[in-house]
Amino acid sequence: MKVSFKDLGLVNTREMFAKAVKGGYAIPAFNFNNMEQLQAIIQASAETKSPVILQVSKGARNYANQTLLRYMAQGAVEYAKELGWKKPQIVLHLDHGDSYELCKSCVDFGFSSVMIDASSLPYEENVKLTRKVVNYAHKYDVTVEAELGVLAGVEDEVSSEVSHYTKPEEVIDFVKKTKCDSLAISIGTSHGAYKFTPEQCTRDPKTGRLVPPPLAFDVLKAIEKKLPGFPIVLHGSSSVPQEYVDIINANGGKLPDAVGIPEEQLRKAAKSAVCKINIDSDSRLAMTAAVRKHFNEYPAHFDPRQYLKPAREEMKKMYIHKIVNVLGSNGKAR
Ligand SMILES: [Zn+2]
Repeated sequence: MKVSFKDLGLVNTREMFAKAVKGGYAIPAFNFNNMEQLQAIIQASAETKSPVILQVSKGARNYANQTLLRYMAQGAVEYAKELGWKKPQIVLHLDHGDSYELCKSCVDFGFSSVMIDASSLPYEENVKLTRKVVNYAHKYDVTVEAELGVLAGVEDEVSSEVSHYTKPEEVIDFVKKTKCDSLAISIGTSHGAYKFTPEQCTRDPKTGRLVPPPLAFDVLKAIEKKLPGFPIVLHGSSSVPQEYVDIINANGGKLPDAVGIPEEQLRKAAKSAVCKINIDSDSRLAMTAAVRKHFNEYPAHFDPRQYLKPAREEMKKMYIHKIVNVLGSNGKAR
């Protein structure tokens, strides 16, 4: 049975992106796979009155079950209201859809937004597949994110060793032909907790930590010039907070030289036409750091609530920090 996202209390991205581009801020797109992550995301968004995109990858959908995920998103809207958020603006978005069938299934299942990632295909095939998804999704008022350019790194099903920056000369033709609602671009962000190899980085002589290469803001600027006011999306934009990496490593973990995108660069991007910033790894790191620390401090604990509660609190703190101090989306959905 088909379900419309509207019946679940969700919204698509159209209005929220238009406001974000105009207002010079970005909407957080947080990935989730389980209840504690979802609770933390909704609590953080409700407290800060920030519009939010709940992202589900193909892997998450397989992990959690698509039916359960749909009702979790519907539950999230009701939970947000219960927390005192009068008009929650919550999107349920498919992250990295890799086929027409998957995107169609998500539209039919109550998602309010889907991404078709055909960026690894030749240009004309990317156009064709994206257009096909847009044609179906728009019938149900579901918005579509597409991608041009290739990101390096690993995220569930997506994996590439090298990145290819988006070519600014292609974007007008692509958007015109596909009618997509937003465009993910490649300007040097990367998936996962190991965004750059030590060879790509310099090392801070004081701390010994890796300093990643800067994002290609010249490419972003050229794209903005071609598509004024068009919503741009950044994937792979976790910052890999070094305090989490340290806690994980100090409590039996092994994440040598994990490195992310510095927050001041994301802050700068959020003020531009970039209106959606994807954050997944930082939530994983916050959760793992809290759980590892808890197990070391309380070796006798075995009730999942004992260690998932501090994990949830740590994620919430991190989400609020991103919303308020990096993206600037707080107070934009009252
Ligand atoms: Zn991605």
